[in-house]
Amino acid sequence: MALLVQKYGGTSVGTIERIEAVAEKVCSFRKEGHDVVVVVSAMSGETNRLIALANEIMEEPVPRELDVLVSTGEQVTISLLSMALQKRGCEARSYTGSQVRILTDNRHTKARIRQIDEQSMRKDLDAGRVVVVAGFQGVDEHGNITTLGRGGSDTTAVALAAALKADECQIYTDVDGVYTTDPRVVDSARRLERVTFEEMMEMASLGSKVLQIRAVEFAGKYNVPLRVLSSFKEGEGTLITFEEEIAMEQPVVSGIAFNRDEAKVTISGVPDTPGSALSILKPVSDANIDVDMIVQNVGEDNRTAFTFTVHRNDFNRAKGVLQRVADEIGAHGVSGDTKIAKVSIVGVGMRSHAGVATKMFEALSAEGINIQMISTSEIKISVVIDEKYLELAVRALHSAFELDKPGVEETL
Ligand code: ASP
Ligand code: MG
Repeated sequence: MALLVQKYGGTSVGTIERIEAVAEKVCSFRKEGHDVVVVVSAMSGETNRLIALANEIMEEPVPRELDVLVSTGEQVTISLLSMALQKRGCEARSYTGSQVRILTDNRHTKARIRQIDEQSMRKDLDAGRVVVVAGFQGVDEHGNITTLGRGGSDTTAVALAAALKADECQIYTDVDGVYTTDPRVVDSARRLERVTFEEMMEMASLGSKVLQIRAVEFAGKYNVPLRVLSSFKEGEGTLITFEEEIAMEQPVVSGIAFNRDEAKVTISGVPDTPGSALSILKPVSDANIDVDMIVQNVGEDNRTAFTFTVHRNDFNRAKGVLQRVADEIGAHGVSGDTKIAKVSIVGVGMRSHAGVATKMFEALSAEGINIQMISTSEIKISVVIDEKYLELAVRALHSAFELDKPGVEETL
């Protein structure tokens, strides 16, 4: 018999009917003899609704009070789910983050978990009860309510699973697993049975929004087997695990991720002297703007150009900062483009295979797609292209790396 931590997201508890369905599911695991800790999110849309209320009072709500407000969403779902469980004769108790002592730092709205006291949960489990815990929230050392950032219930679930040394942390959501790419873009996208923590981290950071990235990081660090599966459809979902546990026949590329959230800025005619990168990028980082890809071109006349990408929301600010820098250091000009997209191929198999980049460039060139920037890591190659070719690029790469579903002949 296993100890399972199961997390049900906002859509899975979005209505009373769905909460009852979750209760049925949890009861059936109890009947099979498993110990279950359930983590829930707020009903879908609720966290946004609460934030909007706060915004009616002030544009930038006081973080401490915002945490008190948004944490109520999860308090509603834990109690309703516990009632639904008890109605079915399944003993259960609900707890807020502070009641199970999910101790965090005091950074309101983006707190990090420091420690969890799993003793009280153990007592309930030993007494045969399901423990229902509010996701997304914790408490600081002074008893203030904190929250873990949007999508933080995933992190709560993984942290509880780590603290309890659970056999598996199961994230129930509205998709039935992690796919080779977004099935809305490529019909033939396949569900992956297994994926490594590293690959999942890359895919999550590149915009495959199945799991909160911190949850994946946490699971990898504490060795928590993590499974993503659907609350609406039967199936095995996708297991996120270690590389050694993945079959030898690992494909070179496991998935194609993409991201439309970035914009690119260029500062040209920069005097090519030691410290020029610093003089450009330091003011950007001082302005709290995250930089993703960076390219420096070799220029003529001892001048060079820097291009880098930032989140689209930071585009105007980044351009403003660069304009000031350009004036100071005597660069020629600043330009930018928001209509770009980043497409990445991800796979641990790349480590042991040559020619992966060539194959990627071939596939894009065959479609007449121009590559504007390139960056690579050990298990990922990313390119920036014109946004209007994004879907074409993803489809071309998906088939070039043979990620499409097996055709009819192959399955016969
Ligand atoms: N309810 C929170 C949010 O909407 C936490 C979560 O759903 O994981 O971000
Ligand atoms: Mg969520």
